[in-house]
Amino acid sequence: MNLEQELNEITGRMFGKNIAACSTPLLYNALMVLAKERMSAHPVIKGDRKLYYISMEFLIGKLLSNNLINLGLYDEVKEVLKENGHTLSEIEEHEPEPSLGNGGLGRLAACFLDSIATLGLPGDGIGLNYHFGLFKQVFKDNLQKAEKNDWIEHDSWLNMTDTSFTVEFGKGKVVSKLYDMDVIGYKAGKNKLHLFDIESIDEELVEDGIDFDKEDIEHNLTLFLYPDDSDKAGNLLRIYQEYFMVSNGAQLILKEEKALGHDLHKLNEHVAIQINDTHPTMVIPELIRLLTENEGLAMDEAIDIVSRTCAYTNHTILAEALEKWPLEYLEEVVPQLVPIIKELDARVKKSYKDKTVHIIDKDKKVHMAHIDIHYGYSVNGVAAIHTEILKNTELNNFYKLYPEKFNNKTNGITFRRWLLSCNHELADFLSETIGDGFKSEANELEKLLKFENDENVLNRLEEIKRTKKEEVSAYIKEKEGVELNPDSIFDIQVKRLHEYKRQQMNALYIIHKYLEIKGGKKPVRPITFIFGAKAAPAYVIAQDIIHLILVLEKIVNNDPDVNKYMKVLMVENYNVAYAEKLIPACDISEQISLASKEASGTGNMKFMLNGAVTLGTSDGANVEIHELVGDDNIYIFGEKADTVIKHYEKADYVSKDYYEKSPVIKEAVDFIVGNQALKVGHKENLRRLHKELLNKDWFMTLLDLEDYIKVKDKVFSDYEDRLKWKKMMLNNIAKAGFFSSDRTIEEYNRDIWKLR
Ligand SMILES: *Cc1c(COP(=O)(O)O)cnc(C)c1O
Repeated sequence: MNLEQELNEITGRMFGKNIAACSTPLLYNALMVLAKERMSAHPVIKGDRKLYYISMEFLIGKLLSNNLINLGLYDEVKEVLKENGHTLSEIEEHEPEPSLGNGGLGRLAACFLDSIATLGLPGDGIGLNYHFGLFKQVFKDNLQKAEKNDWIEHDSWLNMTDTSFTVEFGKGKVVSKLYDMDVIGYKAGKNKLHLFDIESIDEELVEDGIDFDKEDIEHNLTLFLYPDDSDKAGNLLRIYQEYFMVSNGAQLILKEEKALGHDLHKLNEHVAIQINDTHPTMVIPELIRLLTENEGLAMDEAIDIVSRTCAYTNHTILAEALEKWPLEYLEEVVPQLVPIIKELDARVKKSYKDKTVHIIDKDKKVHMAHIDIHYGYSVNGVAAIHTEILKNTELNNFYKLYPEKFNNKTNGITFRRWLLSCNHELADFLSETIGDGFKSEANELEKLLKFENDENVLNRLEEIKRTKKEEVSAYIKEKEGVELNPDSIFDIQVKRLHEYKRQQMNALYIIHKYLEIKGGKKPVRPITFIFGAKAAPAYVIAQDIIHLILVLEKIVNNDPDVNKYMKVLMVENYNVAYAEKLIPACDISEQISLASKEASGTGNMKFMLNGAVTLGTSDGANVEIHELVGDDNIYIFGEKADTVIKHYEKADYVSKDYYEKSPVIKEAVDFIVGNQALKVGHKENLRRLHKELLNKDWFMTLLDLEDYIKVKDKVFSDYEDRLKWKKMMLNNIAKAGFFSSDRTIEEYNRDIWKLR
């Protein structure tokens, strides 16, 4: 049976129609069934030592196109659909996006699963099956509102299993239910993503927006990702979720090990567990508990074995993100773990007098990262500069104890999704030009460097960029009702909204540009400023920054003196699908975090791979991008990490000084509370943001604003040197190979997991 017959057989069986007669939603379902049938026939990757990647988040994105690519069916399916009067991109629009992650951390976990399977390594993901995931963002009255994202349809990529465990909490027990998704490697075998759920979940609990009874654990446990943790009930729910995930994970791991006939005394020889940030930390005491209580191991041995099994990835140095739970919360939720955590702490206290490395502090708070570092065998940061900051500053006291545990693994992205799937035009052109070896050997992209002076190649890159800008403009016209000009420069900042990422600095530049144009200084070429960002519902200033950007959008786009020269757009509900449309269309990639604050970033890598030029600070992986492409192919501005760290140490940054010293800064900042803005926006939000910038500005927006304006203006004028710009595009694509997550995973495997 050829593919067309196979698909016709499926549509006939499911809907009693042939392909041509099916609507696009029906075809989506049929193609999903086709892909699932093919995947279920694929062999599971086997080995003598297996990885479990435990993460509260897997931001997998839509799966149809990616699975078809990895199955090697993509081109054929496209052809069959075309012959029957359909297009794959139309069909994809009907796929709901699972929102099982917040941003970079969850997306990283998803890229890693793709690379692990592609490299043929045995490794499964363990996470939670959130029914409504991360909220869906809508804008009303220039404010963000949160709604539930109801992504699980009757037919989905989830496969029900008959695996189920009991998980005990202080106030009773719940029964879990495991769903699996197949993770297919690129022309390779498959692994699984295990997503745990509860039998007793009740979707009806959700009232207006994303409100629900946070105390009804038996019915709410897997409803949402990161429920609002601004109150105690939210915090407790988070602990319930974390323990539910790791207890199920630990039980699954031990069950699989026993089924393989492996000796649990040698767990560390057959299993590696990667703890993605501190959220799954309780897997350490939970495994120790299960091994001692159920499997007859002595405490010393259990601790030793688990410590040789677990490895920890640190994702941030933001103090507020390093998890600390009050011991009394743990006593309430998971009383059975508390004696073990106390035992682990007692051993640390016996060995080390230094209070900063203890697990339970004097306020009876439990420092989760400290458990990971003492009782794990590897601690890694996610970009070179980040790991250095961990070693020398943030975790220096631990580094002095365990220098051998610390290592760097610079993040990466899967090229299957972030090039082959989202930018066929570029992928096909690259194949024509340098062969398609880069699809599995990313460093072969460097072959492109030979064509740096080839006008045809440079022009094709420019044409492809233009095509992608047209494509996304049409999509945006339909979806947001805003008309964009594909001949304008696309300057894009898409990522979670956080003060350290400094969307507010970009907004201040926009105000500055707006005022310049009003004053008669017009840019040579129109500029389109695009944002996409969700803000945590309880993060007030982040909401205010969204409000400011939406207000600027209205002011700029409705001003006939200005809207010929610039436009502003914040897209609604930025997610993976939106990223896949925006990134290929980008000219300038905004990576402007306060130096030392962005652990790595992965958005920066996606943009580079698609031929955007980075405008960024010396932060996270920007530093490595800079090293790879050289000074001529990137725009770096702003204070360096060591200067910033000194400002924090001395507490000597005063934002008002910058405001008073510079008329340009003052003018832009005061626009936020000027008549024009107040006419469109809300006094309360705008005044609060203005006050924050003047009196606190914890992430030092004004420190770098003048340099940012200067360098950004230079970027726009360089854009007019088209030859120079096209060469920059080419160099960025050619040097992006290092950021393939295949490289990252090879390093994890070589240094940490040693799978076989
Ligand atoms: C890649 C990605 C991120 C991470 O972006 P950063 O710029 O690295 O913060 C966040 N959200 C989505 C949807 C992504 O695809």
